[in-house]
Amino acid sequence: MTKEAIIKEFEAIAGAENVMTGETDRHAYSYDAAVLDSVMPALVVRPRTSEALGAVTKLCNDNGLPLTVRGAGTNLSGGTIPHPGGVVVLTNGLNRILEINEADMYAVVEPGVVTAQFAAEVAKRGLFYPPDPGSQAVSTLGGNVAENAGGLRGLKYGVTKDYVMGVDFWDVNGELVKSGSRTVKCVTGYNLAGLMVASEGTLGVFDKIILKLVPPAQAAKSMMAVFPSMKAASETVASIIANKIVPATLEMMDNFTIRTVENFRGAGLPVDAAALLLIEVDGHPAQVADEAAVVERICKENGATELHVAKDAAERDAVWQARRDALPALANLKPTCVLEDATVPRSKIPAMIEALEEIAKKLDLTIGTFGHAGDGNLHPTILTDKRNKEEWERVEKGIDMIFDKALAMGGTLSGEHGIGLSKSKYMAQETSKATLAYARRMKSVLDPKGILNPDKIIGAE
Ligand SMILES: Cc1cc2nc3c(=O)[nH]c(=O)nc-3n(C[C@H](O)[C@H](O)[C@H](O)COP(=O)(O)OP(=O)(O)OC[C@H]3O[C@@H](n4cnc5c(N)ncnc54)[C@H](O)[C@@H]3O)c2cc1C
Repeated sequence: MTKEAIIKEFEAIAGAENVMTGETDRHAYSYDAAVLDSVMPALVVRPRTSEALGAVTKLCNDNGLPLTVRGAGTNLSGGTIPHPGGVVVLTNGLNRILEINEADMYAVVEPGVVTAQFAAEVAKRGLFYPPDPGSQAVSTLGGNVAENAGGLRGLKYGVTKDYVMGVDFWDVNGELVKSGSRTVKCVTGYNLAGLMVASEGTLGVFDKIILKLVPPAQAAKSMMAVFPSMKAASETVASIIANKIVPATLEMMDNFTIRTVENFRGAGLPVDAAALLLIEVDGHPAQVADEAAVVERICKENGATELHVAKDAAERDAVWQARRDALPALANLKPTCVLEDATVPRSKIPAMIEALEEIAKKLDLTIGTFGHAGDGNLHPTILTDKRNKEEWERVEKGIDMIFDKALAMGGTLSGEHGIGLSKSKYMAQETSKATLAYARRMKSVLDPKGILNPDKIIGAE
């Protein structure tokens, strides 16, 4: 088929107003939140019905056109950078919450529903959807499932995969595959919904997602503890967990991040603190009171110089807004911001903090460190300017060293941001040859022409 004929086919499926071929439109979808070069797609299409999404998938496969599905494009690993000359399929035309079932505590959504809007709708019905990535105000549920997104509440409530009950997805031939169910238990056949989680658009195109909902906690208490060193703060994290307390949230910030956040919004953070822990315990009011007292004691035993307990909802929101500001505030400082999410067993947090400080010193890099300390999932954030070649080489060396250290401690390349394009070259370091070969065989059977988001996760053949 000629290029013009293919464009006509896309227009017939999705409507001419939903097919974009102009340079400006294509440029807008040539990059995402990762620090990688942009790649221009040939065409961008926005299906507005489930059938159109399936037909677009089939058309791409029939014509050998690489297809990259895009939610909000906030992923940090290059998962929505298109293949040269490929097609970007937008999901923001498929953004309906189809059902919120209060009796059975699940919801059915289209993939383009925005995470925070969904959580707010669920809350109106007295239910709770815990996964809360920092990007939730814009990220989509389809993107969350495809990346297995985490968030601040991962420690107690788990991550997106813990809420996926089912996924209906279009296979590469445009056939609708249904997986999972609306029941709490389901072991009928392979766990294909599980296979779709973290698949980064490489195995199927999500059409509908069934998500588990839970009752909200009756009470919560947020605290901010000030420490004289990162070592003391990280040892406190290990100690809280060792004392069998599982806070809903247990976040850490180093001094550089504290000062940057304070300059960004003036949240009233203690700028002289070497480290902060932001902690929330939740549950039954009696349990919250007990756990808060234990956490307070452990913080003091580990050298906390101050402990502030949020008195009301406004103070609680201010604590968590400060944490959510960490990435935007750091990213504001320099032209290039590389946010990593190598993750270690949480008992290794003190050692990882030490390793990050050594790497920054050795390579003379500016690294702000914050993150989900309770999960072992830190976000060392390197601030740089990619145009400075000499500095960029040191940054790349620093990234290699961060991964080496995390893997040596029994950790993993990514706790929540996915592999995409940016980390596929490191996959062999973490997995075995046989594991990669298995993944490639699976991909080649499910997607023989390599149409679905090529090169992501397992790299180019
Ligand atoms: C400021 C900021 C804060 C962040 N905080 C967090 C955080 O706390 N935790 C965390 O885990 N991540 C975080 N992220 C990363 C990012 O927001 C998440 O990875 C999120 O899940 C991406 O959602 P999205 O809608 O933007 O997806 P996109 O970036 O558009 O896509 C992500 C992947 O999903 C695939 N995909 C999208 N829709 C579908 C579909 N319908 N079918 C199949 N595949 C699909 C894409 O092809 C791509 O591979 C943050 C990012 C930013 C910029």
